[in-house]
Amino acid sequence: MNVPVPAVAEASSASTAQLLAKYTVPNYGRLPLAPQRGDGSWLYDENGRQFLDFGGGVAVCSLGHCPPAITTALTEQGHRLIHCSNWYQIRGQGELGRFLVETVMESPGKCLFCNSGAEANEALLKLARKFGHLTPKADGSPRRGIITFNNSFHGRTFGGISATGQDKVKTGFGPLLEGFSHLPFNDIAALEAAFNEDTVAILLEPVQGEGGIHIASPEFLRACEQLCTRHNALLLLDEVQSGLGRTGHWCGWKPIAPNLTPDAVSWAKGIAGGFPLGAVWIRDRPVSSSDHLALCDVLGPGSHGTTYGGNPLGCAVALAVLSEIKRLNLCAASASLGADIVRTVNAWHHPLISSARGLGLLIGFEINPDALEASGSWKHDDGMASMAVVKALMADGLLTVAAGPLVVRWLPPLNVSTDEINTALSIMRRTLDRMANGGK
Ligand SMILES: *Cc1c(COP(=O)(O)O)cnc(C)c1O
Repeated sequence: MNVPVPAVAEASSASTAQLLAKYTVPNYGRLPLAPQRGDGSWLYDENGRQFLDFGGGVAVCSLGHCPPAITTALTEQGHRLIHCSNWYQIRGQGELGRFLVETVMESPGKCLFCNSGAEANEALLKLARKFGHLTPKADGSPRRGIITFNNSFHGRTFGGISATGQDKVKTGFGPLLEGFSHLPFNDIAALEAAFNEDTVAILLEPVQGEGGIHIASPEFLRACEQLCTRHNALLLLDEVQSGLGRTGHWCGWKPIAPNLTPDAVSWAKGIAGGFPLGAVWIRDRPVSSSDHLALCDVLGPGSHGTTYGGNPLGCAVALAVLSEIKRLNLCAASASLGADIVRTVNAWHHPLISSARGLGLLIGFEINPDALEASGSWKHDDGMASMAVVKALMADGLLTVAAGPLVVRWLPPLNVSTDEINTALSIMRRTLDRMANGGK
């Protein structure tokens, strides 16, 4: 399929790289690839080169590029009504909320819509602060301690970087929000020791994505829930990357701990397949045993909001994406395809891979940096080992994403075909073999 490129008024003769270097802030280390067109699992660049896209815009393109479900919803809703203010009754929010509550969560609660993952987490943090005012310490002062974990990632707002357990996102931006502590992930003893009178919430990713595909243990998730219940603190799950089918279930944590009941959940990335949208679910439960106010009603009129969040166009696209995931049973597909990929790669016993791990189609391949260095294809001064492999894979036609210094991540569309997976596996095998022999 050859789609004509839209004519831009007074298009520049400069290259894309030149335009970006001159006119955009250098806050991304961009790879030398200028995508022009996408179709399912495939991406085509300005030079007509073709790539199998297993990065999916970092877990965003849950149905691949430009799927008919999305283009139809965009066009139909785009002709009907694109935006109106949250001062009015937006039916799509009601329908999308109903889907998230009834089908995704299967647990009573209410939803709030915004534009990104960081904004969704911001809403969780503001909910925790309000809750801390409503359920103060013995001396009457508000509780404000929020426990998060090392190697977590919660977005780039001040709330997000304060919550994130990685120094690189915080450096140079202090002072940050107060009240956050970062503990080792999956360490129940450290969690129990850190919980105190001031603790009002735990925020975690059931599968740490950016931090390197670290899966929470069932015992750890249950310990988080028990501590929160005992101390009336909130269990907040950041499902921005792991939610909505990615891990083989609507709820990222359910393959790990099926009966866990969080107090609030954030989503973004895959929710609308590339249309910017974030969402939060808040549980319907009393704020405290002596209070009739429900947690899902704590953010009352005037307390929080956004202009774009949950506009009719975004809601229509999200409903189309989630309906398609449901119709095609893509949660189950994600679970079994992902398990096959992890099993296959582990069976290679490849010298450059120390482990393959994941849940559903959220998969990480951990590179063995010593073996990579010994092969002569990379040295520490070259930067992250993961990026060296990501670049080599890109040169061979496979797009992936680094997750920290050692992990190469696969986030293919949930509707990826087994043929496409086999193609990706053979590309990766060939690239790794070449690197193991000293090639780049
Ligand atoms: C990507 C991500 C975010 C931030 O989402 P943005 O849409 O980039 O603001 C937050 N949490 C997790 C777990 C993420 O993966």
